Amino acid sequence: MNEIAKNLASIKQTLPANVQLVAVSKTKPPEIVLEAYNAGQRVFGENKVQELVYKYETLPKDIEWHLIGHLQSNKVKYIASFVNTIHSVDSIKLLQVIDSEAKKNDRVINCLLQVKIAQEESKYGFSFNEVEDLLKSSLLNDLNNIKVVGLMGMATFTDEENQIRQEFRELVLFFKKLKTGILQNNAYFVEISMGMSDDYRIAIEEGSTIIRVGSSIFGKRIYN
Ligand SMILES: *Cc1c(COP(=O)(O)O)cnc(C)c1O
Repeated sequence: MNEIAKNLASIKQTLPANVQLVAVSKTKPPEIVLEAYNAGQRVFGENKVQELVYKYETLPKDIEWHLIGHLQSNKVKYIASFVNTIHSVDSIKLLQVIDSEAKKNDRVINCLLQVKIAQEESKYGFSFNEVEDLLKSSLLNDLNNIKVVGLMGMATFTDEENQIRQEFRELVLFFKKLKTGILQNNAYFVEISMGMSDDYRIAIEEGSTIIRVGSSIFGKRIYN
């Protein structure tokens, strides 16, 4: 077995059945991504539109592609024909554009609302209040080509395990509050995307349903 297949196997071994693994392949060339594909992985995540499009065009067509990084609304059109899930929806405008581009392609795109849970000033993501206001409004009723399937969050970049755990716990509590409250147990609202290489074990303990793991599968990234 090659290194990537080994890494995948060891992560999957500890994964509860209800938790999905998104293999984050950003910065890795197609031939490396293919090693994970050949080891059985079918769900991959990218954080840049151009790179996502390139890999979609280059790699096997049965890959399920997720966008996990910030998305500018003027770029949605490049991925709307194939992207399965967008984890990083952080504005109402973006939701509306995703819906209209999905409609042009006669598709439904899964969306996760990115929520700010980290202590550090993060540029992107809704506040808890903004998510509540959005879900209370009738805005989503008219968007038939998106499905809001859950929430996404990123914990503070820190070694303090307790803080990371606390942030994940807050996101899960918020998810449950929405699910049983405003959303009246909406059957589509089921996913909590949280946990990366350094903290996915904590995230799973706290109730994550999707982990986004890059370097623990593919090794360290080299940015130029
Ligand atoms: C890069 C990235 C990941 C994966 O990070 P690793 O630490 O390499 O596992 C997960 N989520 C987002 C949003 C990312 O940008």
